[in-house]
Amino acid sequence: MKTATRPVIEWVTPEQAEHYESVLGFARTLPRDTLERDREEMFSREAWNRCAEFGIQGMPIPAEFGGGGADVVTTMLGLEALGYGCDDAGLVFSINAHMWTSEVPIWTFGTAQQRERWLAGLCDGRFIGCHTITEPGAGSDAFGMKSTAKPVPGGFVLNGSKTFITNAPVADLLIVFARSGEGIGPYGISAFLVEAATKGLTVGGQLDKMGLRTSPMAEVFLEDCFVPSEALLGGEGQGGEIFQTSMRWERACIMASQVGTMRRTMEACVTYARERRQFGKPIAKFESVSDKIANMKVAVDAARALVLRVGWLMDHGRDTMVEAAVAKTFVSEAAVRTHLDAVQVFGGYGYMTEYGIERGLRDAVGGTIYSGTSEIQRRIIARGLGL
Ligand SMILES: Cc1cc2nc3c(=O)[nH]c(=O)nc-3n(C[C@H](O)[C@H](O)[C@H](O)COP(=O)(O)OP(=O)(O)OC[C@H]3O[C@@H](n4cnc5c(N)ncnc54)[C@H](O)[C@@H]3O)c2cc1C
Repeated sequence: MKTATRPVIEWVTPEQAEHYESVLGFARTLPRDTLERDREEMFSREAWNRCAEFGIQGMPIPAEFGGGGADVVTTMLGLEALGYGCDDAGLVFSINAHMWTSEVPIWTFGTAQQRERWLAGLCDGRFIGCHTITEPGAGSDAFGMKSTAKPVPGGFVLNGSKTFITNAPVADLLIVFARSGEGIGPYGISAFLVEAATKGLTVGGQLDKMGLRTSPMAEVFLEDCFVPSEALLGGEGQGGEIFQTSMRWERACIMASQVGTMRRTMEACVTYARERRQFGKPIAKFESVSDKIANMKVAVDAARALVLRVGWLMDHGRDTMVEAAVAKTFVSEAAVRTHLDAVQVFGGYGYMTEYGIERGLRDAVGGTIYSGTSEIQRRIIARGLGL
């Protein structure tokens, strides 16, 4: 019988289906201690290492650099399975941030030496990466950044401050974006690979946030921080392009994990609505309840299709600026709606932290802000329409 809980979409290849099932099987073995760690804002290095050992972090990176060499669609299916099987959305978010904003830029723009130095360790869990673009005065207008990279003999001196940096408290490597030359907007911005222990770089205390609390975040300060010329990633002034490349991957791939999370929440609602009885019958028999869950199913299926469309386009070497923005906008907003409805379906129990339903809502809200807010995604989509 075809049901909403069918294990995998029927139109993927047998290898992709197997990959999905294998990641799902692994994800379900991860510890179920998210409730406590969410309260304490605790990242699990142990779960991180286990994911890396299984091959999650290295999934799309070519085997020659220590990764799994999966195509984008296969990677997305794996990340959906991770989001579905693992209830630690903060961990899943940290892994995604690491993959798209550290591994991918080094793989795509790094020199042989930089790839050699970092990629295998980023794939196998030894190193954690983060990228630092946002500043207190430059968020959506990221290229309005004030941080500077002054060329000096043998390298650059970095100065500035960054905020909202995912993984910063646990990172070994930071990709720092700073203005190294003249120019406005993306022109004149360069990216640097900076080791966490570099003199002049300080990571602030962990920031306390609404959701994704098991994903650590902090401010980063750069004060006369010297980095050698070999730390420059790509060419001087190529920072804007590097950032946009990361964002194209991140916008679509993080949302793949969101599809899995939404599906898990939908299934929890199905189970609860069948079991919970009021007025002498299961609440599933009230259409205003079952309609909410039906809407979740529509959202999950539509979200998956939009995400995998981006994956297919990327696998075929096509530009995905607009399609990634469409997927990011739809999935992140659908995730908020799904989790808000889930709280309603669970009633008072949904509002209590103990059941983990309200955590899903808190986690989902971040999705409409990180990797470019919904408003910014709509600007990209409108520009694509010639508006
Ligand atoms: C969970 C999370 C993780 C993050 N991780 C990282 C990270 O690892 N590295 C990093 O560098 N940054 C990170 N960020 C920062 C994130 O990229 C920024 O928060 C985001 O780009 C928005 O910037 P802002 O917060 O300064 O808001 P602002 O840019 O000040 O925006 C405030 C409001 O104004 C709207 N707005 C702004 N400009 C426009 C416009 N042109 N048109 C319409 N509306 C507009 C916005 O959409 C928003 O609603 C993270 C943020 C979150 C929430």
